[in-house]
Amino acid sequence: MVLEQTFSNIEGISAEIVRRSQELKKILQAASYAYYILDAPTLEDAVYDRLYRELQDLEQQYPQLISTDSPTQRVGERPATQFTSVQHNIPLYSLENAFTDGELQTWAERSQKILEHSNFDYVCELKIDGSALALTYEQGILTRGATRGDGNSGEDITSNVRTIRSIPLRLNLENPPAVIEVRGEAFLGLQSFNQINESRSLSGEALFANPRNAAAGTLRQLDARKVSDRNLDFFAYTLHISEELSEIKSQWESLEFLQKIGFKVNPNRGVYQDLAGVKSFSDRWDQERLKLPYMTDGVVIKINSFNIQSQLGFTQKFPRWAIAWKYPATEVPTIIKAITVQVGRTGALTPVAELEPVLLAGTTVSRATLHNSDRLQTLNLHLGDTVIVRKAGEIIPEVVRVLEELRPVDAQKFTMPITCPECHQPVVKPETEAVTRCVNSSCPAIVRGAIEHWVSRDAMDIQGIGEKLITQLVEQNLVNAIADLYELTLDQLLTLERTGKKSAEKVLEAINSSKTKPWSRVLYGLGIRHIGSVNAQLLADHFPTVELLGKANQEAIAQIYGIGTEIAQAGSQWFSLPSNQNLIIRLQNAGLQFTGTTTKPPISSALIGKTFVITGTLPNLKRDEVKRLVQSVGGKVSESVSKKTDFVIVGAEAGSKLEKATSLGVKCLDETEFLELLGNIEL
Ligand code: NAD
Repeated sequence: MVLEQTFSNIEGISAEIVRRSQELKKILQAASYAYYILDAPTLEDAVYDRLYRELQDLEQQYPQLISTDSPTQRVGERPATQFTSVQHNIPLYSLENAFTDGELQTWAERSQKILEHSNFDYVCELKIDGSALALTYEQGILTRGATRGDGNSGEDITSNVRTIRSIPLRLNLENPPAVIEVRGEAFLGLQSFNQINESRSLSGEALFANPRNAAAGTLRQLDARKVSDRNLDFFAYTLHISEELSEIKSQWESLEFLQKIGFKVNPNRGVYQDLAGVKSFSDRWDQERLKLPYMTDGVVIKINSFNIQSQLGFTQKFPRWAIAWKYPATEVPTIIKAITVQVGRTGALTPVAELEPVLLAGTTVSRATLHNSDRLQTLNLHLGDTVIVRKAGEIIPEVVRVLEELRPVDAQKFTMPITCPECHQPVVKPETEAVTRCVNSSCPAIVRGAIEHWVSRDAMDIQGIGEKLITQLVEQNLVNAIADLYELTLDQLLTLERTGKKSAEKVLEAINSSKTKPWSRVLYGLGIRHIGSVNAQLLADHFPTVELLGKANQEAIAQIYGIGTEIAQAGSQWFSLPSNQNLIIRLQNAGLQFTGTTTKPPISSALIGKTFVITGTLPNLKRDEVKRLVQSVGGKVSESVSKKTDFVIVGAEAGSKLEKATSLGVKCLDETEFLELLGNIEL
């Protein structure tokens, strides 16, 4: 083992590995300092854990890399200096982590092997996300409270510990032993944590990243009154057994004893005979912990019997008889091996990171989206970068951040291509858009995408035409636009590899039956930007024929309740292009439905853009209902009457607006006339 990380090359180890291990040590040391001393973490816990694991694996493979200052060789941090440093009588260890069932299994098997297969029980406790405390009671009286520090020495924070109401100052024990050592977790309930951050935010102080850091920061406050105000809480989980307590033989018994002598012990615990029981406990609490008023970040599994615990002993950092099973992370680090660029059906170029496979929220992830050119620019990605990948609700993981400290020396910056990777035509990137786009409508990627969308379930629902067949059809030049599908022949399909007569006939039949699909689905299938299936339905309801929709201007489309200007713009632009008009004619000739029936008042060019004013109280319709009806036929509702007003809808107790309308000669309608006007519109 080397003392300090001063080496730059070590015989038998590639320079890249030496450098990586040094960079990992540096980043982990800095993160540890920020976490333990400043109480202001710079990395996500799960990210820290993965980088730590990577360093541990490298050191296991190349033990020459291990140095005394490596984070893998230390528990926590050296204590900060404001408080008196105290030596722990018994060291406070950290816990080994397990992130997968396999790792838990390996830990249990290792213990069984050491013990030559004796049977043992496991105690499961919640892993409270707080800060460890070592409490000393002499003759039953609390005499010292200390932080864990680096495991061997911590800070004497007795006066602060005394303010924690759940820590007894005197044990409930008749003849207490000379000394009792108790360990447990000081923590902040979520409510207290939120209150602290709220008041810090009001006074302009930096917020605590999580309850654990807030608890650690509070414990090291110099002013005990402030500590008292913050409502720290405490769960006891370890009792050090002395001769006087030798009748306590297991972790389970010790927890019960701690409770009896006045400590708060977490009630959510269980004892199990096998890992299946352990698993059921951790699965249950993975869900239920979200209802708890404090944070937990896993389950601590301890072998119950003290006798077996002492046979297993400790490593330099961990007890061998305990392990922390950590809940699946939603953010983890990994390395970018390559970046590929995909072209979508709208021509959008999406950069995709090809990753060193990594376990994320229960699945192995090897690709993550980089979204678009702007995002790529912000991330400043280089090949070989270590990045943080997140899976937050969405199914597709994304790259959220780059750990630039871990960038290889000669890493190449990635830039978006200037030509489309599919058709090799120049791409465009308008300043106002985040996306780079291929604008060649016969680009194979765009054609494939358009067909995939057309045949999809919510559109034409054409069974039997999958990704593979579409690629073949486009590659063989048999289909260059969706209308080509309706001109396909059996002979053409039979020329394709692995296509038999039966399946080819089925495909043609499915294509043919799509001709009965309603107008709203045809509209959705056209794949117009921003027009999803709901919007397509809305548009089809208001425009019962493609001709009406095609003729409607942007304003008229935007009048429909639920349709925004972006959608209206995309729609009217699409219909104005001759190539799209041509596509519609071809599809109409093929027999597809471009006319529908509608229950909604039809849109007529007669009322598009007409201005209505409402005055007085109508017998049945409320004002916003009138407004919606007017908008649905393409009209506008205005507040005041002018020469530009086309109609005034008049109800009871109409005021000056009616007078003005009469003087200007504007047509006035009562409720019945208004409804008749809507109903009698000619198409
Ligand atoms: P740990 O938090 O993984 O586990 C050990 C600790 O668990 C104990 O010291 C104790 O305080 C606590 N604990 C809670 N409930 C317990 C119970 N029922 N029984 C026993 N112990 C219980 O290990 P650690 O050494 O305290 O810290 C290492 C962890 O801290 C890392 O895994 C990482 O997640 C985090 N860390 C994060 C950063 C960062 O930058 N985000 C930096 C350093 C450390």
